[in-house]
Amino acid sequence: MNNLAIHSIERVISALDELTDEYPDLIGAVDFYEEVLPLLEQSWPSLHGLHLDMNEAGDKLRQGVPLLWGEFSTAAGSAPNMELFLTLCRLATEGGNEDGQVLMQTVLNGDVDLRPLLTAALTLDRATLTTTARSLNIELLTIEAILRHLLMPIVRAYSDAFGQALDFAEWRRGYCPVCGDWPLFGELHGRDRLRHLRCGRCTASWRFKRLECIWCGTTKRDELSFLYELAVQTWRVDVCDHCRGYVKTLVSFDPLEADMLLVHDLRTLHMDQLATDAGYKRPFKQPLASP
Ligand SMILES: [Zn+2]
Ligand SMILES: [Zn+2]
Repeated sequence: MNNLAIHSIERVISALDELTDEYPDLIGAVDFYEEVLPLLEQSWPSLHGLHLDMNEAGDKLRQGVPLLWGEFSTAAGSAPNMELFLTLCRLATEGGNEDGQVLMQTVLNGDVDLRPLLTAALTLDRATLTTTARSLNIELLTIEAILRHLLMPIVRAYSDAFGQALDFAEWRRGYCPVCGDWPLFGELHGRDRLRHLRCGRCTASWRFKRLECIWCGTTKRDELSFLYELAVQTWRVDVCDHCRGYVKTLVSFDPLEADMLLVHDLRTLHMDQLATDAGYKRPFKQPLASP
């Protein structure tokens, strides 16, 4: 780990600490990240020698296929980091249920292979994860949360590499062009308030139409609006009355710093509550799945 990375983690951790002064309820989430963040950083795979075929990448993006999909099982650096996995399982168990322990034992016994599970998590293949969760008699949400964090350093490393080579200017989908996750935030940048979407899993950013629902694609003005709190000028929640989906949106001059995305997410949980109370949700959808 280099000095820059250590410096960045320290800044994120001190921002998380400040959050608990304002929102004491966040102490559990903050404790989790304070333990996991240094491990995420250490699990960052080396993609030395990564070769990106620009024609192939262009074809995938034109077809709406996230770059990592279909490549992941053989991709460099995609082996799960076991120390991170064991820590995530332990923390899930400390959170009060035994599911993390069950998953850990099953993997350590060799009864379940993590690689195909990671591929299923990458492609938001909830059917496969549900089958595994049922066979182990554990909660789907636990297995999804563990795999999501286990994926993060891998997809983030790829996202950084791809982001330097590609600008995603032609990408017009609501989900991430690199890893296929749905955006954590919208961001309205600059004086013109150009809309970008921001992936919370790999931190990629891409342009998106200002007046279009990221979830269902409606562009009808009378179905699209936003919720806001008078006291908070910089954040709002974009909502769709066609599918009842929402996404939190930041109005700012510059893009959010990648390492700080989780801090902003926790700091704006009240905006999720605002949306949920008004009957909106982040719907579950698998990109590219038949309707
Ligand atoms: Zn992504
Ligand atoms: Zn919609």
